[in-house]
Amino acid sequence: MARYTGPSCKLCRREGTKLYLKGERCLSDKCAFNRRTSAPGQHGAAKKKLTEYGMQLREKQKAKRYYGVLEKQFKNYYDIADNQEGIAGENLLRLLERRLDNVVYRMGLASSHKEARQLVLHGHFTVNGKNANIPSILVKPGDVIAAKETDSVKIKELIENMGDRIAPKWLDIDKNGSAKVVAMPERDDIDFEFNEQLIIELYSK
Ligand code: SF4
Repeated sequence: MARYTGPSCKLCRREGTKLYLKGERCLSDKCAFNRRTSAPGQHGAAKKKLTEYGMQLREKQKAKRYYGVLEKQFKNYYDIADNQEGIAGENLLRLLERRLDNVVYRMGLASSHKEARQLVLHGHFTVNGKNANIPSILVKPGDVIAAKETDSVKIKELIENMGDRIAPKWLDIDKNGSAKVVAMPERDDIDFEFNEQLIIELYSK
């Protein structure tokens, strides 16, 4: 399964915001973005005024990178969102939020989307009692996501330490390592700053 393997902190500098890709490090003094916010590259520090297209592109890249989704899959999400009823931008964010790896992250069982994806890929979760090792599974109201009862020390530790993150109201989280989806995520539930309209404008050209 394809994924980005380059340096994570460069992505934050490129997007001009913290994307929280490295878990605890992102909240510490060691965060590279605290030391240097200019874009990477030889001319990164030069102030450049973005064109309309540039702003749309950056917003799309920011969302892709925050959720850890590659271009083709992101475009698929746009196509689905555009065909759904309602506001396409909100539909798009709702789809991204419903990914299984994002749910594991929101549950507080992983310190980053990347770690959540790894945990899912390694088969540590079930959805409605069935093995679920595909990060892109989309959960829906009524689904129950649970860390597998396992003797993995890591999972036990993660369950013991879960809970610092503020749970979105569409998830009913049990501190024993499970969560029930009680509603569809709403725009207000997404606490990261996106201008999703710019993404829609980019793809609608
Ligand atoms: Fe981004 Fe985290 Fe690196 Fe800071 S530590 S620059 S938030 S990935």
